[in-house]
Amino acid sequence: MGDRLAWIEDALRELHEKNLYVTIRTITSPQGPWLEVDGRRVLNFCSNNYLGLANDVRLVQAAKEACERFGAGPAAVRTIAGTIALHNELEARLARFKEAEAALVFQSGFCANLGAIPALVGTGDAIFSDELNHASIIDGCRLSRADIVRYPHNDPAALRSLLSERRSHYQRALLVTDGVFSMDGDIAPLPELVALADEFDCMIMVDDAHGEGVLGEGGRGIVHHFGLQGRVDIEIGTMSKAFGVVGGYVAGKAVIIEWLRQRARPFLFSSAMTPADTAACLAAISILEESTELVNKLWKNTYYFKDQMQLLGFDIGKSTTPITPLMLKDEMLTQRFSQRLFEEGVFATAISYPTVPLGKARIRFMLSAAHEREHMDEALTIIARVGRELGAIR
Ligand SMILES: *Cc1c(COP(=O)(O)O)cnc(C)c1O
Repeated sequence: MGDRLAWIEDALRELHEKNLYVTIRTITSPQGPWLEVDGRRVLNFCSNNYLGLANDVRLVQAAKEACERFGAGPAAVRTIAGTIALHNELEARLARFKEAEAALVFQSGFCANLGAIPALVGTGDAIFSDELNHASIIDGCRLSRADIVRYPHNDPAALRSLLSERRSHYQRALLVTDGVFSMDGDIAPLPELVALADEFDCMIMVDDAHGEGVLGEGGRGIVHHFGLQGRVDIEIGTMSKAFGVVGGYVAGKAVIIEWLRQRARPFLFSSAMTPADTAACLAAISILEESTELVNKLWKNTYYFKDQMQLLGFDIGKSTTPITPLMLKDEMLTQRFSQRLFEEGVFATAISYPTVPLGKARIRFMLSAAHEREHMDEALTIIARVGRELGAIR
């Protein structure tokens, strides 16, 4: 018994030795600019709560009311007896918000990718996939059994030559990309990708997990940001980031949504979002539709924080979004830096291999509309102090 699990002990020890072991901290407060983590009060720079909605009273109230009206759980998969009126309402509201024909809600963004990709391509088809796409896209691609052609990150010219060479060998093809790349904070060149999809007869899909609530007018996402409404077949979304709740969705052409209702396996074989989650997401959409105030504040904070980090002499990569990587490269230094920040009262996660390649370790600071200037200034003072202490800046 012990022997056949010994390999796990070895593998875990190796992770510790290489400073690649992920430590999971426990939060005992709501999500806000401050968090109580492992018994300590720290400034929060690592959640995806871009708009501060995770602890918004309007979302909490909507969740409570839905719980009282519909109960705690959906009690079945949606095709059997688990579709409640709130799910349908959320789908209609999401489609309107994203200016898409229709939408379908999943349990998470991860599930939306696992559901959508294998329903669209299979054996004998091809997927052209950016080499830095999110794990859930990669897993969705693998599950589909289509051939996967990885193209160099955000490189439409390289993609074009791969399409010229390989596209004609396959029946259907899917071109898939992250909208905002979550580790570097850069944006996909969507207009060029859409043109290539048209030219080479590929379905095109973008995962807008870090784009909605952030890019485009009022946070409508990357498709809106580039004015490409109606040109992208499938948009994947998550409600666990800017929306502040949990859940995922696919938005796009009505015929695709109708097909996914018949074929997407996480939709058919796993129960749906709870009434409370669903109602909270509806409240988030209402807030976004009413005003662009939160999105504007997020960007104002982003510009301020990035400027200050650069003035301090830090390398913050090539992000053009609120995702702000402090590029330290060395895994050991990155772990140490993040640990020291935590001790000094700033919570920002170290990200290293295998999430990013070896030698590209960084600390990722996530900005939010929940931050006020004083939160950022306090954090910047601490970041500068730790940076000098560890020799990352002078
Ligand atoms: C976070 C993320 C997901 C997963 O979303 P969940 O709703 O948390 O499952 C999917 N795709 C991308 C690009 C992401 O950044």
